[in-house]
Amino acid sequence: MPQLLSLIVPFYNEEDAIGLFAASVLPVLETLADIQWEIICVDDGSRDATLPRLLDLAAAQPLIRVVELSRNFGKEAALTAGLEAARGDAVIPMDADLQDPPELIPQMLAAWRGGAEVVLARRADRSTDSMMKRGTAALFYRLTRSISNIELPENVGDFRLLDRTVVEALRRLPERQRFMKGLFAWLGFKTVVLDYARTTRAAGSSKFSGFKLWNFALEGFTSFSTTPLKIWTYLGAVGAVVALIYALFIMLRTLILGNEVPGYASIFVAVTFFGSVQLISIGVLGEYIGRIYMETKQRPIYLVRKFHNF
Ligand code: UDP
Ligand code: MG
Repeated sequence: MPQLLSLIVPFYNEEDAIGLFAASVLPVLETLADIQWEIICVDDGSRDATLPRLLDLAAAQPLIRVVELSRNFGKEAALTAGLEAARGDAVIPMDADLQDPPELIPQMLAAWRGGAEVVLARRADRSTDSMMKRGTAALFYRLTRSISNIELPENVGDFRLLDRTVVEALRRLPERQRFMKGLFAWLGFKTVVLDYARTTRAAGSSKFSGFKLWNFALEGFTSFSTTPLKIWTYLGAVGAVVALIYALFIMLRTLILGNEVPGYASIFVAVTFFGSVQLISIGVLGEYIGRIYMETKQRPIYLVRKFHNF
């Protein structure tokens, strides 16, 4: 039995990118010897002509399968849908906008045949991303590395090859809020890294705005670390000690110099400062409680309207 490679591609309003995607991925797949392939396209509730275009492709090429989600569930959920539909011995999630070069697929397969269970594609060159995006990404990686106990590999996206055993392991992680990069890192397994240069989007525009990225980063912190919950205890303790020392100082000063009713300014500063610290810490609690709440509902991660070519 020849082995099977599954490509998993999430599509959200990618009508401009589909043609280019098919034109550059299919030739690469057709050159692959000794392995069969399938492409699992997940339509993540697109509101443009993405779905009909995908269905046209699927009508012409039965190895292109389409998972039609009932609405937009977000990239992480779309990837999960694809991973659960894929049957390949090796599985590669990749973006629809060709920012993940298909030319790397043969090299990934070679590393996999050489014994790797995970082959990571690392963006050696991010010069096509904006300064802002690179800077915030670097900060995000530094922070997660220092506050959580998983090793998030830097400059690695979802573009990677996963062996069947890794996919099965991933499917055992039941959480509803899926920060895929973190989940992948948590799994471990024998990993090989390949470098590539990240290009600009082939067509269309990025689906991740600044605020969406910020929420994505929050997801990353909260799913793998409880440090933000714990720092408040220490901050509170330090604040209390400082406040006590200051109280002693005031008492002594009043005993020695008498009371002339100054101190209004320092009280005002202390009240507003500690008030804000408390609000922030309640907010941090809220981030976690909100996630616990969503998690306890046990809702499915995504809903499928229809499977095409399965
Ligand atoms: N995507 C998705 N659902 C979403 C947002 C994005 O399936 O809600 C897909 C999108 O179609 C693309 C991939 O996720 O295939 C990466 O998105 P994008 O290129 O916009 O992200 P960026 O490269 O800017 O980080
Ligand atoms: Mg992109």
